Amino acid sequence: MIDPQTVTSNLAEVRSAIARAAEDSERDPAGVALIAVSKTVPPEGIQPALESGQRCFGENYVQEAKAKWPALRESCPDVELHLIGPLQSNKAREAVELFDVIHTLDRTSLAAALGKEIRRSGRHPRLLVQVNTGEEPQKGGVAPGAVEAFLAECRDVHGLTVSGLMCIPPAEDPPSAHFGLLAAIARRHALPLLSMGMSADYPAAIQMGATHVRVGSAIFGARQPKDAAEDEKG
Ligand SMILES: *Cc1c(COP(=O)(O)O)cnc(C)c1O
Repeated sequence: MIDPQTVTSNLAEVRSAIARAAEDSERDPAGVALIAVSKTVPPEGIQPALESGQRCFGENYVQEAKAKWPALRESCPDVELHLIGPLQSNKAREAVELFDVIHTLDRTSLAAALGKEIRRSGRHPRLLVQVNTGEEPQKGGVAPGAVEAFLAECRDVHGLTVSGLMCIPPAEDPPSAHFGLLAAIARRHALPLLSMGMSADYPAAIQMGATHVRVGSAIFGARQPKDAAEDEKG
């Protein structure tokens, strides 16, 4: 496992790279939130990030988050937890209970399940629609041409307030065109939040307007290959 001091220094480096990228594009660094992606990282690896003041974390799997975060939150109640992995409709209840932001709303059945759980629980996680900007068949997300209709359906049929958009560009493409496309769709629909950019490309995402960057391995070290972002396991 990665040692605590490396997490602390990696985190400091990522924070200064975010500030540099924001300033380079004449943006306020405070307008870019760092989501530390802690999937597969055990609590001992997360602790040094909490001690460095990091409060915003991303997880891919509901079960893993449920196992790790309730205990960590006891000592840090102001943690903000983001679900960035695919969500099965039958886990909507647990996801609404646990997460403050859900980045992967991408289909009708999930919109219905989330709407029901939000009304039932009275909890209102912020919701982002995942857009499949590269139109990759194996990847989750709404096709760019279907976003308008999906947003209308979320609002009018399921009573959901969508706050923004998220994308994971195809691994083999230069990411900036995808970030630009996502930003343009968000602008067209007046959606304030833009979740884009990972360890390899978050400065480019910030240049294109990201409000949330999702950075894992640059903070916590490399993961096993099976846990790559493209992993579609719920
Ligand atoms: C794992 C993951 C990340 C973080 O990826 P890194 O390359 O480790 O920074 C970001 N976004 C999503 C959706 C992921 O699944």
